[in-house]
Amino acid sequence: MGLARQALLWASRRKWLGAKFQAWSFTRRASRRFLPGEDLEAALEAVVKLGDEGISSLITLLGENVSTTAEVQDVVRQYQTTLCQIQSRAADCQLSIKPTQLGMDLGGDSCEQGLFALLPHAAGDLVWVDMESSGYVDRTLDLIETVNSTHKNIGVCLQAYLHRTDGDLDRLVSRGIPVRLVKGAYREPASVAIRKKKDVDVNYLKLGCRLLDAVAAGKGGPAAFATHDMNLVRSIQEYSVKRSVPGDAFEFEMLYGVGREHQRRLVAEGFRVRVLVSYGSAWFPWYMRRLAERPANVWFVARSLVSRWGSGGGGDPTASEPLNSGLSKTVK
Ligand SMILES: Cc1cc2nc3c(=O)[nH]c(=O)nc-3n(C[C@H](O)[C@H](O)[C@H](O)COP(=O)(O)OP(=O)(O)OC[C@H]3O[C@@H](n4cnc5c(N)ncnc54)[C@H](O)[C@@H]3O)c2cc1C
Repeated sequence: MGLARQALLWASRRKWLGAKFQAWSFTRRASRRFLPGEDLEAALEAVVKLGDEGISSLITLLGENVSTTAEVQDVVRQYQTTLCQIQSRAADCQLSIKPTQLGMDLGGDSCEQGLFALLPHAAGDLVWVDMESSGYVDRTLDLIETVNSTHKNIGVCLQAYLHRTDGDLDRLVSRGIPVRLVKGAYREPASVAIRKKKDVDVNYLKLGCRLLDAVAAGKGGPAAFATHDMNLVRSIQEYSVKRSVPGDAFEFEMLYGVGREHQRRLVAEGFRVRVLVSYGSAWFPWYMRRLAERPANVWFVARSLVSRWGSGGGGDPTASEPLNSGLSKTVK
């Protein structure tokens, strides 16, 4: 793992730094690269625009490691409102939720109760549970299994960088639970996670093919491949054709503001694409992880600062930058 990436992931866990960072207007502007706005309305507008282009969405309210029951209740209420708003717009949009946002750190059955309060309101649409750092994996998988025994519209993320994911994939597929495969976004020790990017990519493809095998055999739920790595996307596409997996049995997922031209091209090629749209005021740790995914993104923050000094605070340097300009240089 590169030094810049390590530093950004270290920063993502520092609350004092987050408080300072979020107060600066130039960092708020820079965050707009990945965030249409802090309020739900901005996220819903983005969802509708994506829908016009044939792209489905996921919405997530930013926030993690909540520490009181009152906060959990507020999160659940906000997600219930989001589900109502999605349905009133007839948008193809699902929720994506972090376990620690539903109180996993509080112990007890806070998370389970939160999900039980949301799943019946989802009108049968999937609700995805994100995977956070490795210390949460066992609890998250146990939670998903418990909830899935009564509510089938729940799916969970697995991370290809963890050594254990092979076994976790078997466990979920054998229970028919939908899986979203990602590379993994947290800072993990070598004892639990593969360190070399090249090896993570190899493992992603291996797990991705096994997930498609399961789908082809009618096992498991719908599969989601959440990556902007176009080499992996191509390999998954090819394998799906080889195994005759129907195009509606899996989808590609990407982040809002990343790889937009790839999203459009995949849709034009007839593949299903879903984009994760985030909103909320607690964006610092999440934003640091986005910067860590491509440390060159820090350049956009630096440009934002320079532009502020140069223009007396006006102008949004990211606005004139094609959102995926960096991506198109790096993705073959
Ligand atoms: C829908 C969705 C849900 C996710 N859920 C989780 C989760 O629950 N748990 C978890 O640990 N992780 C999650 N992630 C993040 C994931 O683990 C990776 O950190 C992230 O997707 C970057 O890896 P990559 O697969 O795109 O491959 P990479 O090899 O990192 O990137 C491939 C290419 O895309 C570019 N790129 C990638 N990210 C960015 C970015 N932020 N800005 C600009 N360019 C970029 C890179 O520069 C590179 O050219 C999720 C990602 C998505 C898209």
